[in-house]
Amino acid sequence: MILDWDTLLQDCVDFTQRLIQTPSMPFEEAQLAELVAAELQKLKFDQVWIDGMGNVNGRIRGTDPSLGALVLNTHLDHVDPGEPSLWSVPPYSGTIVGDRIVGRGACDIKGPLAVQVYSMAALLRAGLQPRRDVVFSGVVQEEIGGAGAKHWAETLDYDVDLVVLGEPSDNKIALGHRGIAQMWVRFNGRSVHASVPEKGVNPNYALAKFLQDLTTAKSELSAHELLGPTTISPTIIEVDTKSTNVTPAWTRVCLDFRTASESHNSLRAFVQRVAGDQPIVLEDGLCSNPTPYPSSDETIYGFYTPPTDEKVQSAQALIGAGMGHEAELSSYQFATDGRHFVPYNLTMIGYGPSLESQAHVVDEYIAIPKMVESLRGHVELIQNY
Ligand SMILES: [Zn+2]
Repeated sequence: MILDWDTLLQDCVDFTQRLIQTPSMPFEEAQLAELVAAELQKLKFDQVWIDGMGNVNGRIRGTDPSLGALVLNTHLDHVDPGEPSLWSVPPYSGTIVGDRIVGRGACDIKGPLAVQVYSMAALLRAGLQPRRDVVFSGVVQEEIGGAGAKHWAETLDYDVDLVVLGEPSDNKIALGHRGIAQMWVRFNGRSVHASVPEKGVNPNYALAKFLQDLTTAKSELSAHELLGPTTISPTIIEVDTKSTNVTPAWTRVCLDFRTASESHNSLRAFVQRVAGDQPIVLEDGLCSNPTPYPSSDETIYGFYTPPTDEKVQSAQALIGAGMGHEAELSSYQFATDGRHFVPYNLTMIGYGPSLESQAHVVDEYIAIPKMVESLRGHVELIQNY
């Protein structure tokens, strides 16, 4: 393919800077969506549209309309930059420092968004058509729960073969991330005046023993070979009373699990085992809004696409060929919008040029050499998948 890679990279870097210079906190993405839509028009995408939720989309048509689309997904919003004086450059400047672009959203997710858009533009510039339709999908509100992604999936009116999430994966292929489960574990006692503790039963002691036992028992939780170990974090502790001179009638702790290898039933059994013969009451569901999980032995994932999946193997081979070295497999620590596509049976992989460790930090950056490598991987994928 005849392509001017230097110009493509320059244009991609310039677009990343303009994206960073257009702040787009959740609910405030409209101006950025307009900027992206105008860019897609200028690059001569076959179709450009903003949906009712404010998600921006662009399609280039493939030669075979019977094939499901390849979707490149990123989000439009970002987290707050915090105190600007902590940054070495203004957070919305997109300044180039050495071989990095620095600014809020550079890593998560404006650099990867620009790479997706310019990889598609590369084909148009070279006068080539992909095999299947390729659709760019930039969604709103990822950082606050993913309403944009949910809306996109709910209203999808074309076949999708594979979704590529642009979330930072260091140009590796991320096959998923762990899921979240929470529960309150409550210990009941008998409340009395704090001056006569021997007349009551103070549940704080039972809780203390439980937490102590948890520190050793947590190693019994299983791990997933690619997505990593199940972790458990006791977070909030609450008692029934606000009075400092009354022993509590009950005390409870919120346990936060991240898991890719346990089920709701196995987590309940684990907590019972740790409690031993101390009576406990379990209330599961998110601690902020406990709606009981169903009784289930199904593994809790965010999303997981097995490495044996044909689509993974085909994408991995193409991306590797484009980059000039094998594309390694990995997973995400954080959660992504990919979890909202699971109910729709969409196959997903993550592939983005930035580092997960750069997401949501001061002086967030993306390395320009990684963008070049990713453009090459994406172009090969888009052309031949
Ligand atoms: Zn992100």
